[in-house]
Amino acid sequence: MKAEIFSIGTELLMGELTDTNGSWIAAQLPALGIQLQWVTIVGDNLDMISEAFTRGMARSDLMFTTGGLGPTQDDLTREAVAKAFGETPVVQPEVVERLERYFEGRGMAMPAHNIKQAHLIPSAEFIPNPNGTAPGWWTERDGKIIVSMPGPPGEMHPMWENQVAPRLREIVDDEVTVTRNVKTLGMSEAAIDEVMDEYFGQENPYLGIYSKADGIHLRIIARAASEGEARSMIQPVEAAIEERLGEYIWGYDDETPEQSVGQALLGKGLTMATMETCTGGFLANSITESPQAFRYFRGGVVAFSPQQAMENGVPAGVVEQHGLASEKAAAAMASAARERLDADYGIGIAGVSSPDGENGHPAGQIFIAIAGPDGVKELAMRVPPRRITIKRRGSNTALTELRKLIASREESSSA
Ligand code: ATP
Repeated sequence: MKAEIFSIGTELLMGELTDTNGSWIAAQLPALGIQLQWVTIVGDNLDMISEAFTRGMARSDLMFTTGGLGPTQDDLTREAVAKAFGETPVVQPEVVERLERYFEGRGMAMPAHNIKQAHLIPSAEFIPNPNGTAPGWWTERDGKIIVSMPGPPGEMHPMWENQVAPRLREIVDDEVTVTRNVKTLGMSEAAIDEVMDEYFGQENPYLGIYSKADGIHLRIIARAASEGEARSMIQPVEAAIEERLGEYIWGYDDETPEQSVGQALLGKGLTMATMETCTGGFLANSITESPQAFRYFRGGVVAFSPQQAMENGVPAGVVEQHGLASEKAAAAMASAARERLDADYGIGIAGVSSPDGENGHPAGQIFIAIAGPDGVKELAMRVPPRRITIKRRGSNTALTELRKLIASREESSSA
């Protein structure tokens, strides 16, 4: 089944609001076997919205809309669906009653404008909205379906999960799409492209390559009659990636670097601690995103001055001789964090976020060190000199490197 999404609202066109509804719905469709072809953002203008729907009905079987179901004059989705279907909305007394009860329960009278939300056309039926005043519309005629949902994600997501998705599962009998995401770090996009060359360019299973803040991701997408069949098409490609890029793989699907390292530490009963400068606490913040972090994270220090670093165990000689933005300082920070916080592994991140550079190093230079039972591993990297990039790339690289270190230790001890 071919589908499209319409995100409705002038705020979206003005750049005041990001269309997260569109991407959220897009992510739900492959598992349902629905092929998304278009995503359109339309402002609060009746003619434009109905024109967009009319165009959508000519090229798609299913259309999803979010926004524009409220009670105000610029909420025009219902009117536009009615116009595209050539039908006239009629007020539904039972819905007026339900809305009145909703407002009564909040100790107020229903504003007159809310009556708009109680209108329906003959081809539409309401999708109840237990989380707000705007019911959705399921409109269906001549094999074309428009599913209209409210804009607020807190209302739209439960409506989708409890009412829209189950109904879609009943009507969609097309192929199922399954995806598998393999996440790597340490090899360039071009090098991966070369190593996996023969797998690119095929349509099904499709192999895509994407550069992200936590490395290079390889996404395998397969379409088949059943989930099992799609998975068996993915399997040989995934096996080839593992064989050729094994040592660079740090995670799969939605896994994050902090989850991946958390799992590795938990599995071995190990702990970690951190000391960071240019990442400003981003590393500690990422680690504590995991609910189990209290089991393996001993704590972290944000040393934003040489004084702070020295007070937390970095030898004065290292700071005086090499400066805080140096390989040696990162190594000393990793060892100090490990020792002072009594952890199995200590991560040190030092580097340059100031636009003027430091110690002869340019902005974007990062030094990472991991101190562990077998000594200190050091690495240096250079990233584009934006502060958020330095924070993300520095933290993600440190975490994935620690994950690799734990895995390689495991392999050598079992060999
Ligand atoms: P309401 O009854 O709350 O007015 P509505 O269906 O009329 O709901 P809008 O008025 O268009 O929806 O949007 C209400 C809010 O929903 C927006 O301010 C925004 O917070 C959120 N929202 C709307 N569209 C989107 C979107 N495409 N992506 C993310 N959030 C959205």
